[in-house]
Amino acid sequence: MRFSAVIAAAGSGSRAGGAIAKQWRELGGRPVLRWSVEGLAAAGAERLIVVTAAGDEERTRQTLAGFDQVEVVRGGEARADSVRAGLRALAPSAPEAVLVHDAARPFVAPRHVGPLLRRLQDADGAVPVLAVADTLKREAADGRLATVSRDGLMRVQTPQAFCFDRLLQGYEGWSGAEPPTDDAAAVEQAGGRVVSAPGDPLLMKLTYPEDFDLAERLVGQARIIRVGQGLDAHRFGPGSSVWLCGVEVPHEHGLVGHSDADVGLHALTDALLGAVGQADIGEHFPPSDPRWKGADSAQFVSHAVQLVGRAGGRVINADITLVCEAPRVRPHRDAMRARVAELLELSVDRISVKATTTEGMGFTGRREGVMGQAIVTVETP
Ligand code: MG
Repeated sequence: MRFSAVIAAAGSGSRAGGAIAKQWRELGGRPVLRWSVEGLAAAGAERLIVVTAAGDEERTRQTLAGFDQVEVVRGGEARADSVRAGLRALAPSAPEAVLVHDAARPFVAPRHVGPLLRRLQDADGAVPVLAVADTLKREAADGRLATVSRDGLMRVQTPQAFCFDRLLQGYEGWSGAEPPTDDAAAVEQAGGRVVSAPGDPLLMKLTYPEDFDLAERLVGQARIIRVGQGLDAHRFGPGSSVWLCGVEVPHEHGLVGHSDADVGLHALTDALLGAVGQADIGEHFPPSDPRWKGADSAQFVSHAVQLVGRAGGRVINADITLVCEAPRVRPHRDAMRARVAELLELSVDRISVKATTTEGMGFTGRREGVMGQAIVTVETP
């Protein structure tokens, strides 16, 4: 099921301690808000409406650079005002389903979203819930404690999933004296059917200073590492230089190809696409398309990097091997590493470019062309 999402990030949340709102605090080296966006992007959200406080719009755009599905909308006084503003932004081309999520729940991941959307087949809304394990007490004005039955009670998290029209109606028609404390309440009041889906302790909301300490310790468990590999070869032909890993290398031949025939960058592009399950270079840039004739292959890499970002991922490192008897790669290796680092927006120490021969065997050994292989690792929610 296709869906869009609204992320509430307009809070000033002071309970977490520190001088800045919790969506801007860093977790594992990047803002909490970015984690939430990465998670929902990885789950396949078509549009991501991030509702932010007045004055934070530019900062939000900068924090979320690279996510072209993100739209920034100015929020309101209460959380409910912000969510309503986000829903109104989606309304002109309304999605079938919408997820509403708190920015301060950074560990949302694709595995949380599928079960929620499936429940919308026979409900207007679905919310992740957890059992209440602790005994509940109520403290009276005189300090005496009394036990509260926890029968039928559950803790509700976000993201919450809804049929878009029902949630918008619920918010537009809200008649409570106080704003709804969660989105499901707006649908419930309008007579809609809201059901439960399995919650997850990792959907914890960062509220208090100790929550951030715990979250820092969970960072490693909340991400997965994916590996992608790519292979490419081009044949020598007329010319006086070849392009390898974005660097022009003088040679007695050129390389034949529809684009600039850079086997290093082609292999790298395929490795990036492979890491996020996005087909291959031929599908994204068909050789039959005249636009790519003689093209600088750097744009293929940049496009693949964008797709990695769109999937909520970040490239960790790349290791490229060029296979040929000639030209010599070594004198150009530092320039190649620097160029690849620039294209991947990584420091040079994350990039390796190696060269080898096949000792006279096979097509590279017969000096018929050059082969390139690339392996990348990508971190995703
Ligand atoms: Mg190629």
